[in-house]
Amino acid sequence: MAKRIDGKLISAQIREELKAETAEFIQKTGVTPGLAVIIVGENPASQVYVRNKKKGCEEVGFFSDGYELPESTTQEELNSLVDKLNQDDKIHGILVQLPLPKHLDETEVLLRIRPDKDVDAFHPYNVGKIMIGDYSFLPCTPAGVMALLQRTGVEIAGKKCVVIGRSNIVGKPMAMLLLHANGTVTICHSRTKDLAEVTREADILVVAIGKADFVTGDMVKEGAVVIDVGMNRKADGKLTGDVDFASVEPVASAITPVPGGVGPMTITMLLQNTLTAAKNAVK
Ligand code: NAP
Repeated sequence: MAKRIDGKLISAQIREELKAETAEFIQKTGVTPGLAVIIVGENPASQVYVRNKKKGCEEVGFFSDGYELPESTTQEELNSLVDKLNQDDKIHGILVQLPLPKHLDETEVLLRIRPDKDVDAFHPYNVGKIMIGDYSFLPCTPAGVMALLQRTGVEIAGKKCVVIGRSNIVGKPMAMLLLHANGTVTICHSRTKDLAEVTREADILVVAIGKADFVTGDMVKEGAVVIDVGMNRKADGKLTGDVDFASVEPVASAITPVPGGVGPMTITMLLQNTLTAAKNAVK
């Protein structure tokens, strides 16, 4: 039976470390790390994420500034708020909660955030830095997966790593981070032929596709480490991953549950990036 990788516990440990590191940083520099979160419209899921991000900031001792803009916000208004925050010395990280309402151009806004305040690491400048392995910020979800692997003592170097999913937010940066950790990486997607044959080769299998219970036990090698990034709502409202936990758990050596695996790590990594941004600003 697989060991369950406890994302809640590991996330709590990292937050404790961040809290201590933040207190020391404030004492040394007099600067309090600050995160600004912008949300436009009334997407209930986004509102929950934003609330949790604010709570996370308070927990580790950051200053947090929330902007709840109406659905009718224009591109110019949003751009000028980003411009203002770019110039604000109290703010070290700027996060625009996605998705934005349809009339707003996400790319335009993300490009406007100063790369040194881009704590989501979505700006092409930071994406490029991730590619060459010289980075300040790591995209939060893949960074969370790496922290889970490292803190569980999973060896990556030399291992066959398979990532299912090639999104810019999860799959691609995930593959790049595993590569930088010296894994031998294969990326799969919806056009991959004989997917199960590829996944059965994996020592480490990361699944980020957005399809409930898609990966089943017969697609997994005996003893593999399985990381489930997926977050899907079932008809009964329950949260479930992309991995069929019941059939994969007996085959894998370690597995992340959903909820309680990768999910709790994402905001923690955002906090880590904000502290890094504040340290870089002081430097
Ligand atoms: P996305 O942008 O929709 O990308 C999904 C990827 O999965 C695409 O690359 C797609 O391939 C691939 N895919 C879809 N069906 C497939 C199939 N049958 N076989 C193989 N590959 C398939 O999704 P995302 O933003 O990366 O998110 C993925 C999942 O992670 C979602 O459940 C999301 O909610 C979750 N998520 C969780 C967190 C967290 O904090 N835990 C953060 C972000 C996302 P193509 O490119 O060929 O279309």
